[in-house]
Amino acid sequence: MTTIFEQIIARKKPAEIVYESDHLIAIKDIHPVAPVHLLIITKKVIPSLQQLTEAESFLLGEVGLVARQLAEEFGISDCYRLLTNVGSGAGQSILHLHFHLIGGRPLWGIG
Ligand code: AMP
Repeated sequence: MTTIFEQIIARKKPAEIVYESDHLIAIKDIHPVAPVHLLIITKKVIPSLQQLTEAESFLLGEVGLVARQLAEEFGISDCYRLLTNVGSGAGQSILHLHFHLIGGRPLWGIG
């Protein structure tokens, strides 16, 4: 069974795509928790950060650079959060590695 993110990457489901490269795609979160809430998603299906291999670790560098670029584009470069949830207990609902880029309002504390 494919995840919604695989379907978005394959253009079988709609999404507001804000960035795309060979390895990553970034979309607007459908249920934003802040004025800016983007998801940076690996195109390769990796269930979570916990399954990332050493050979795939370059993806983390790309995620960081894309986050930086999108933060600039969306006017939140001075205050944002970049996070990934691992496991349902942490709030992961889609088993396909993705990073939340959240900003546009004060972000205090954890969560
Ligand atoms: P997580 O809970 O960390 O797995 O994050 C999954 C995120 O995907 C949630 O913030 C959802 O709001 C978001 N989401 C689910 N379906 C879609 C969709 N079709 N388009 C955009 N974002 C989605």
